[in-house]
Amino acid sequence: PGAPVVLSANSLRVRYRNGALGILDVSVEVKVGQVVALFGPNGAGKTTTVRAISGFLRSEGARVIDGSVSLMGRATTNMEPSRTARIGLAFVPERKKVFASLSVRENLEALGQLPPRAERAAAFQRVYDMFPILWERRRSQAGRLSGGQQQMLAIARGLLTDPRLLIIDEMTLGLHHSLHEPLFDAVREVAAQGTSVLLVDESTGFALDVADHCYLLSAGRTRMSGPAEEFRGSELLAAGYVDAE
Ligand code: ATP
Repeated sequence: PGAPVVLSANSLRVRYRNGALGILDVSVEVKVGQVVALFGPNGAGKTTTVRAISGFLRSEGARVIDGSVSLMGRATTNMEPSRTARIGLAFVPERKKVFASLSVRENLEALGQLPPRAERAAAFQRVYDMFPILWERRRSQAGRLSGGQQQMLAIARGLLTDPRLLIIDEMTLGLHHSLHEPLFDAVREVAAQGTSVLLVDESTGFALDVADHCYLLSAGRTRMSGPAEEFRGSELLAAGYVDAE
């Protein structure tokens, strides 16, 4: 409480090109320094929500048709991803995270909006310090990294621009359980260094350990929100998962 708000999404309703409503009424808030987790069963609307916030929905012809998004206090509803990026948002999507045939270093250099030349070396140093394994493997083809290392590379790319907010969709999906903890440790470190994090994850255990605040979505609506402590062992959380279509 009291910390400035980085992201405020209010009562979002999203319509896809085919007329389907991806979400009906979702609200999410992220404050400076917070890690916020979005939970909910398949199809609840988590991906639609984070794509609406980042602007990537537009490429699918989908729109926010009701409600509003603001980032760093600026109105960004239905704004293009290149512009939300300039305001300070980095988005790590669910799929197609890295270029498999490029090296780790080339993946970092292939970023659309690299930091200005004078700051580039420091920016690379910062992400290599956070993920020493990426430094060790900087000349390896990204496709030869483990799934967990590829996810680290995707996060590192997002961090190169020193964003105010990092959104990670399905951070641990498909990754062996032993790889989850290092990724959540990285998220904690990212937040400690001043970048707020909004993450979608299935691995509720670690997410509850790392998150400050959580939201439960189901059937396109925010069903519950509160500090992570309140979510632990919550019947509503369990119910949200049982509800899955
Ligand atoms: P998961 O990540 O497990 O798929 P989710 O909570 O992220 O679940 P979404 O993928 O956001 O859920 O889906 C929310 C709703 O939007 C679903 O009813 C889904 O069918 C619909 N939807 C998603 N993508 C599209 C699309 N491209 N066109 C039409 N409807 C879509």
